[in-house]
Amino acid sequence: MLTTCKPGSTVFEPASYLGMYQDQLNKPQYAGRGMTSDRTRRRLVEQVRSMGVTHKAVLGVMQSLPRHVFVDEALASRAYENTALPIGHGQTISQPYIVGLMTQTLFDKPRAKILEIGTGCGYQTAILAPLCEEVISLERIIKLHRQARDRLYDLGVRNVKFRHGDGFAGMQDFAPYDGILAAAVSEDIPQELIDQLVDGGRIVMPVGRDDTQVLVVVDKTSSGIRKYEVEAVRFVPRLAGLS
Ligand code: SAH
Repeated sequence: MLTTCKPGSTVFEPASYLGMYQDQLNKPQYAGRGMTSDRTRRRLVEQVRSMGVTHKAVLGVMQSLPRHVFVDEALASRAYENTALPIGHGQTISQPYIVGLMTQTLFDKPRAKILEIGTGCGYQTAILAPLCEEVISLERIIKLHRQARDRLYDLGVRNVKFRHGDGFAGMQDFAPYDGILAAAVSEDIPQELIDQLVDGGRIVMPVGRDDTQVLVVVDKTSSGIRKYEVEAVRFVPRLAGLS
């Protein structure tokens, strides 16, 4: 039986996120794509905050990160709506509120090395990167993997290792991790992921199927694991193999 846990605000406020992405918007590849206004992003962040994301560092990074560069130009005008949007290959960029919620849940305390499963367009990756020392990000669709890798390089991110792979067995090469975050729903929590966590490590991932999914937290302690449910969510399914 799972108990319920509502993430609260935390005291973790690293300085490195401040303005991290702001300067990048002046680069030629972003000029003329519009949507660069601070006010547009502030409105979105206010909405995310009003829904319960109170972690200052997380909101700080969201405030500085342009979301329109993660979606197709035809969808750029909708990039600052608090909704999931298609990114091709049947996948979606996660809803900003959910990205904020998952990130604040993961960073209830400082965590240095994070494994992310399901890079997608890289928006969540770009939120994680300034908040920790290193991110290992796995994606099974090679085109999304390459696009996200190039996009984050352009945005000045240098502490992410992108890998093309099936992420639900984790990635032993860089284990153990202080935190693991998955962006695709799975019917169970793979034992491999628990095994690749440090003691004190935390997994944040959706569990369930179709309409019955819940965001779950797994804390690994020296005396075993503890699971909590955060809230009902809706994610694309975990798929096996590469594409
Ligand atoms: N946070 C991402 C979410 C993308 S959707 C974003 O905002 O863009 C979830 C992603 O998980 C998809 O890109 C999908 O291809 C990927 N995925 C699904 N199953 C996977 C698996 N077994 N291993 C790695 N990635 C997987």
